[in-house]
Parts: sequence; structure tokens; C-alpha cells
Amino acid sequence: MSYQRYADIIIDISHENLDKTYQYAIPEEYLSTAVIGAPVIVPFGLGNRTINGYIVGLSNEPKISVEKIKSISSVLEGAPVIESHLIYLAYWMKEHFGGTMNDALKTVMPVKRAVKIKEKRSIVLIKPIDEVELIYEEQKRKNNAARVRILQALLKTDRLDYDNTLRDFNISRPTITWLIENDIIKVESKQLYRNPIDKQDSKFNNISLYDEQQRIVDTVIKEYNEGKRNTYLIHGITGSGKTEVYMEIISEVVASGKQVIVLIPEIALTYQTVNRFYDRFGERISILNSRMSDGERYDQSLRAKRGEVDIMIGPRSALFTPFKNLGLIIIDEEHEGSYKSETTPKYHAVEVARKRAQLTGAFVILGSATPSLESYSRCASGEYKLFKLTKRAKEASPPKVWIVDLKEELKQKNRSIFSRRLKELMDEKLRRREQIMLFINRRGYSGFVSCRSCGHVMKCTHCDISLTSHTNGRLICHYCGYEEAMPNLCPVCGSKYIAAFGTGTQKVEDLVKREFPNARVLRMDADTTKNKGGHHRILSAFANHKADILVGTQMIVKGHDFPLVSLVGIIAADLSLYAGDYRSGEITFQLLSQAAGRAGRDAIPGEVVIQTYHPEHYSIITAAEGNYEEFYEQEMLYRRLMQYPPAAHILLVLVTSKEEDKAEKSIKHVCDALKEYITANRISSRIIGPAPAGIAKAKDIYRRVIYIKDEEYEVLIGIKNYLEGYFNYSGQFTGCNLQFDFDPMSSY
Ligand code: ADP
Ligand code: ZN
Ligand code: ZN
Repeated sequence: MSYQRYADIIIDISHENLDKTYQYAIPEEYLSTAVIGAPVIVPFGLGNRTINGYIVGLSNEPKISVEKIKSISSVLEGAPVIESHLIYLAYWMKEHFGGTMNDALKTVMPVKRAVKIKEKRSIVLIKPIDEVELIYEEQKRKNNAARVRILQALLKTDRLDYDNTLRDFNISRPTITWLIENDIIKVESKQLYRNPIDKQDSKFNNISLYDEQQRIVDTVIKEYNEGKRNTYLIHGITGSGKTEVYMEIISEVVASGKQVIVLIPEIALTYQTVNRFYDRFGERISILNSRMSDGERYDQSLRAKRGEVDIMIGPRSALFTPFKNLGLIIIDEEHEGSYKSETTPKYHAVEVARKRAQLTGAFVILGSATPSLESYSRCASGEYKLFKLTKRAKEASPPKVWIVDLKEELKQKNRSIFSRRLKELMDEKLRRREQIMLFINRRGYSGFVSCRSCGHVMKCTHCDISLTSHTNGRLICHYCGYEEAMPNLCPVCGSKYIAAFGTGTQKVEDLVKREFPNARVLRMDADTTKNKGGHHRILSAFANHKADILVGTQMIVKGHDFPLVSLVGIIAADLSLYAGDYRSGEITFQLLSQAAGRAGRDAIPGEVVIQTYHPEHYSIITAAEGNYEEFYEQEMLYRRLMQYPPAAHILLVLVTSKEEDKAEKSIKHVCDALKEYITANRISSRIIGPAPAGIAKAKDIYRRVIYIKDEEYEVLIGIKNYLEGYFNYSGQFTGCNLQFDFDPMSSY
């Protein structure tokens, strides 16, 4: 080969704005290892300091004059090479969600850097045994005790474990070197993978799918075999048999020689769940979770890459498993907020899964008991295909749900947090030695203000979102920055019982103990699960009936089966209803549906008490009725009216700085630039803000936001690209940081 090869390289420094590629020459010796995605070391800058980078392109043409092109110092061997389609995916993520190429590459990489792999080394005899015998005799005569010891062992067996041998026979490295130099042995090394699943028994029993399940499997597989690559949504209540459907489809896809990624929210990734997959697919599955070390995660992605597993199960990050021949991505509980990344690029797993599927010829299945509005509306528009599972697979009657109006309780002079109905049912269940779960909806508890007499909630006049009380006695809108004074009397009914709302889990636990002194109570929240295994300890104590009542936050409503639970009490359903977030109604519906699903999972029929100041609110009524379609219709009306996703898209622009006036000035500059851009390009996007973020200061960093709404996602990408360029190259934003979030799912 006479011509020179060149590589385009992305430099691995994320704090500098080096978001472009640099061309380097590939030295002869690295021609075979310098592939797209390979990590490299290159000289960089005037001082030629060495720095890490990744190859993102290859060519035969120099882009600048040849004498200016430097050479790659080395290609890192044994380090993870990124699949080329994952590099493209990273590029797409950066474009679609913001951030630098480096941020995106780090997201799609299994681990940031290669981790030392555990090896199993063996000593292997390679000389014919009769020659070894002669050498052995000779060494004995020369009194080389160490050599004699190992030769003796080798005469008995031709393969020894390296580490054990050195230790057990007290052999030093020079002895091994001598053996190698005399062609007596060689040292073999084999990489050891740590299988994260510890597994005793397998008990796969063949379930025959019921009609609705079978129809889904048949349709999906037929379309797959016809070469169609659709996105499907399975809308089925908890326990309707979605997981059985997934497993059946997975086995077909795997049989066709392809691999499958199954995303499950971390909180639902329990031993039980993993075991079901293990029972069915055995060693061909692997899992990822956040408790694993980088090394363990790296091992698992290497196994996937080498084709040693067919199925990877894990939370959001498992999406980037480097399978060579991906056939299917399943996202269970697709409505979960944890599928949205909270670090840049702030991507949504569903969008990225669909893109990766498109790049690799795979298809996507989403599943949920309470689909996100985004997904359900895509079914309506024909972008996804919808399947429904309407009944529980194991016949169990749906729970009886009571909605209790807390305003009525106050009128009846009941100031306790337990309504009369809840108290009565708790007494009854305790008498019958059944179990109770009390759920405190703390999600979004941020001090919204409501009237205990009429239920009126203080809302922003511009945003229809609840105002949040701040310690200075002001009520503030987290969306637009509007503020007003905290009223002394309810502006609707004049009652003096108007206050910031909130009941902590600990307080509820105390009240439960006071009210039910003979009951055994467990509490599960962020405090009691801080320690490793705390989660598991509490749940298994409750499962073993070591307690009668479990008090907890949303942690307790997900994916756990307690056959003895016959009553679920939701202390204050409203807490998430006024979380200062356009998704509050949806989150409330999801949480209430899930909580209701905890009651009466087996033989004992279940009851659910929902306590609320808003018994007329559609999220509460539809959740109590288990009527998703009705909820969807109502919620979509609101989203359309307010131009919230999925009716339109929102781009959040966040500027942060250690200095308040810098943050303030910068967001104004950004906003001016934005307005100019919008005018110049005749775009009709709506700008909301600039305003202090909901969390206006965090860890001594000041935060300012602008929200931009537009029906076209592409228009918002254009705005992001423009603002990114303006921010990075206008030179007036030193000491400030700029971030984007598309269709944000967390509060700022
Ligand atoms: P989901 O994933 O929708 O919550 P699962 O697939 O976990 O539902 O099913 C709930 C329970 O019903 C599981 O114990 C499962 O083994 C069982 N199950 C599902 N489908 C069937 C079926 N066709 N026949 C018998 N049992 C089933
Ligand atoms: Zn009132
Ligand atoms: Zn507002």
C-alpha cells in the first residue's frame, strides 16, 4: 500500500468546546486496529500534549496540507471499540437532544475507559513428556528445588492454574520464565466474565398464552418475518401477561439469529423479574444495573459484543449494549420518567431506541399499564400499532376503589389524616390479619398552597400551574416566574385554612402508631433505604408478614407482589396533582393506577381508599375507574389547549452561573438572540421567560430559564443549534453554562 490513510478523531475533552473532528495520519502499524470507534492517543495542541480521542471517520484524502497533519501516537488495544452505528447514534443524540459529541459518545460507550479484565491464566505443558522427565532428573541432580517442584507437578498433569501454582508450590516468576525459555510450558490466558446472575434452580414451565396474548405474538412475528419494522405499544394492566408476550416474541427473534435488548426501570428490575427471564433463556441473558461496577458492566457488554449472550436486560443505559445483530428493543413501563436522562444529552430512551432500531433494522415494542400521552397519541396517528390486554392473566377481580373527599372530613370535624372510611377499613383488615399499604404521594411535593375548606389551589394566572410557596412568604410560578403574596384567607371561600400542603412519611408513621398502637408498622422512603440493601430488607420483612402496615412513598407502589395486602390507602392523592408541572395529571393517574394495582393480587379481594380534596378531578376519577381512555381524552384536551407535549414540543434553555447578575444578563442576551433568530426566520415559536428556574439557586449556582414552544420538533432543534453557536462563539458568556432539555420531564 503506497497511499496514506487518515482518521477523523474526536478529542476527549468535554470542558473545552472542542466539538469538531481533527484529522490524523494512521501509522502503518495501526492500519488494522484503527477502525471507526477505536479509542486512540494523539498529540494535541502546540505543546503536543497527549490526549485521548475516538476515531469517527476514515479516509484516504488529507483535508489540510499533508505536512500539517500529525500522526496517531497509538491505538489503545483491548479498549472498547464503539460500533460504528453507535457513533452515528451518538451524533444523532447530540443533534436531537443537545450537548457535545463527547457527552454523547460517553453515553453510548459501555464504560468511559477500558477496565482491567480479570484473567484466568494457566500453565500448559508443551514439551513431550519423556523429554520433561529428563529435564526433571537433571534439575534434581542440580538441587534446583523450585524447578523440581513444578516439573514434578507437570509430569502429573499438563495444565495447571497459574496463580494457584505459584502460591501452592512457592514458585517465583524467574522459574516460570526459565520454563518458558526452555520451551517446556506456555502461559495461556483466558478472560473471565463475571456473570451477574447468581442462580440456583431453573423452573421454566410452559404457559400457554391466552387468545389476546397469542394474537399479539402472531401479528408481531408475522410482520417481522415480512420485513416490516414497526413500533408497537402493548397497553395492558399490571398482571395482564405482557411479560409473557415479550418472552414469546423474544424467543422467536433470538431463534432468527438476532439479539434483543429489554429495558426495565431500575426500580422494577427485581430478582423476581430477572429470574423469569433466566428460567426461560438461561445463560443467554445478561443484566446491567446501576449497582454494578464499571468492570462488571464492561464485562457484560463485552459478552454481548462477542455474541455470548442474546438478551440484555437493564435500565436506560442497557439501550447501548453493543450487539452486532440487534433485532428487537423492548421498553417495559415505557411511561416511566426514568427513561429520560437527567444528564446531557438529555435523551429519552424511547426516541433513541427507535433511532437505533432504524439504524440496525430492528423493531421496538413498548409496554405499559398507563401509557405516556406521547406514545398513546402516536397510536392514534398511526405511528405506532396498538395492542390491548384487558384482563388479568390469573383471574382476580379488580379492587374496589373508594374516593374520599377530605373537605367533607373537615366539615365533619375529622382533622385526622385518616378519613373515617380508611380508619374503618384499616381496623377491619388488621382484625383479619391482612396487610395494609399506606402510600404518601410525595412526588412533586414542593409546597403547593391549597384551601382545606374548599380545595381551591393557588395557581399561576399565566400558566395554569400551581404556585409554589417559598420561605419568604411569596408564591412563585416555576414556569414563568410570576409571583404574588401568600394570602391569609382563601380567595374563593374566605376560609383561614389555607396553607402549604405536605405530609411526610415519618409523620404519617407516627400518626399510624398512635392511631393503631397494636399494629406493626414499617416505613419505606429515601431515609430508610439509604443503606445498601435497605430496600430489600424492608420489602422482604413485609413480604414475610413481619409487619401489618407498610408506609411509604412511590417506592412501595412499583412491581412488588404481596399476596396478603388487601387494602391500599392513598393518604393525599393531590400532592402530585399540583406539582408545578404540566405532567402532574398524568403522573397522578399513573401513581394512583399503580397503587390501586397493589391491592388484592391473589385470593383476597382488594380495596383501595383514595383520599383527596379533588374528588371531581378527572385524573382521580379515571384512575379509580381504571379508565385509561377517558383519562387520555381529558388530558389531551388540556395539553392541546395549553400547547404542552405531545400537542407541541417544549425546549428548555437553562443558563447557570456562580454569579447571579451574570446568569441574569446572560439569559437576557440569549433571549434577545432568540427573538432575533425567530423574527429573521419567520418562525412562530412562543417564548416563555426568561425567568428564574423553579430551583433558582442550587449549590450556589444561579439558574435562569427560557421555555420555547413549537409544534415542530425540527424548529426547536434549529433554535438549539443557533443558540449553541451563539453561546459558544460570541465570547460574552464566560463563567456561564448553557443546557438544553427537550420536552422536559423533571422540574428545573
Ligand atoms: P405483566 O407483565 O402484564 O404485569 P405478567 O406477564 O407478569 O404480566 O403476568 C402476570 C402473571 O400471570 C404472571 O405470574 C404470569 O406468569 C401469569 N400469566 C401470564 N400469562 C399467562 C397465561 N397465558 N396463562 C397463565 N398464566 C399467565
Ligand atoms: Zn377556600
Ligand atoms: Zn406562570
